Amino acid sequence: MLRIVFQDRRKTGQLDLEAVEMAMRAAMHQAGASELSQLLRCEPPGAEEREVPCPCGQKAHYREMRSRHVLTAVGEAEFPRPWYLCPQCHNGQFPADAALDIEKTDLSPGVRRMLALVGSEAPFDRGRQQIELLAGLQVTTKAVERTAESIGGDIAKREQTAVNQALQLDLPIIVGESIPILYVQMDGTGVPVVKKETEGRLGKVDGQPAHTREVKFGCVFTQTACDDDGYAIRDPGSTTYTGAIETAGEFGNRIYLEAWNRGWSRAKKKVVIGDGAEWIWNNADRHFPGAVQIVDLFHSRQHLWNVARLVHPGDMPRQKQWILRHQPKLDGGRIEKLVRFLRSIDASTPSIAETIRIEAAYFERNAERMRYPEFRRQHLFVGSGVVEAGCKTVIGSRLKQSGMFWTLSGANAIIALRCCHLNNRIENYWESRRAA
Ligand SMILES: [Zn+2]
Repeated sequence: MLRIVFQDRRKTGQLDLEAVEMAMRAAMHQAGASELSQLLRCEPPGAEEREVPCPCGQKAHYREMRSRHVLTAVGEAEFPRPWYLCPQCHNGQFPADAALDIEKTDLSPGVRRMLALVGSEAPFDRGRQQIELLAGLQVTTKAVERTAESIGGDIAKREQTAVNQALQLDLPIIVGESIPILYVQMDGTGVPVVKKETEGRLGKVDGQPAHTREVKFGCVFTQTACDDDGYAIRDPGSTTYTGAIETAGEFGNRIYLEAWNRGWSRAKKKVVIGDGAEWIWNNADRHFPGAVQIVDLFHSRQHLWNVARLVHPGDMPRQKQWILRHQPKLDGGRIEKLVRFLRSIDASTPSIAETIRIEAAYFERNAERMRYPEFRRQHLFVGSGVVEAGCKTVIGSRLKQSGMFWTLSGANAIIALRCCHLNNRIENYWESRRAA
């Protein structure tokens, strides 16, 4: 091949480097695949290896050598390995496949890991294109999807096992340096799902469009410093994420374990931030007692704006004026005063009165979570921006593209896979999987 390339160069005086490097890679792959095929070639078993245990309790007997294909990082390898059959239950097995971690799959572990990465980052067909360009491997879109969802599903399953264990046992105290401030933030975001996943459920909840299910999502991060103006600074790289489409109770256990693993027990100050959603504060009370609870300042301001729009419908200038007058009560943490004022408003219709009554109750219920000046004095974050950004980058950018409709298990698998990558835990997962 090199001879052809350089003949061409002599003739034309030019070298198409891209064509050459790609051809070179293909040639290296071919050589590698044939080397790998030799390496993986099994010999028929000797006289003393002609029986292996069968899961049914009997022994399976060696029958014959059978050849198979596997797509590896250097292309398609082909090699024979012994096949055993159980005379009792008639199940066949290939012990060599189990040893190589290629049971029930045509993809080598290396290729599966690549597909899981691209499938977690981008739509599956884009992943297929990336694999072709970056790795020089031809795979189907379905193979990317199946592999990413099966690895993500396995991660999700292991997490669930860990959560269930955490519920039954006293969690071991994680030893290490104490953490000045540790934050837990929670939020919810809708993901479009296939029709069957919303059947029999109530229609629109909280303005979410039909055929979505809520992903409950949370993050944990630490803070050791604030800037010259006293504003909190997040420790870079300290954020980890977790989430799933599941009940509030199930999510509570999940976020509790995440916080625990991040050093909840050795945090000097603990903070939970969320919007006004009740499930967030139920979980905070249940799993994070003693934590400072903060309602995201921008959400509470939104609630005030709701009232402004009701009091001065369609009149933006007067709405702004109203906000200028009354928002200082909120920002100043004088919530009781704000509630008293809201309840004194003379509404023009019963339905407006009812909405204002609901908003007043919202502020009253969350009063202790809105002492913003006190939080600022302690140099704490007062916004849930980290979890909201997480909802967008972890969930939205991958799972909410147009035309996407997920099954619950598919969505939860990809969420688990994305969190695992972002939390830098994929290496650990892969290691522990190999050890199992
Ligand atoms: Zn058997």
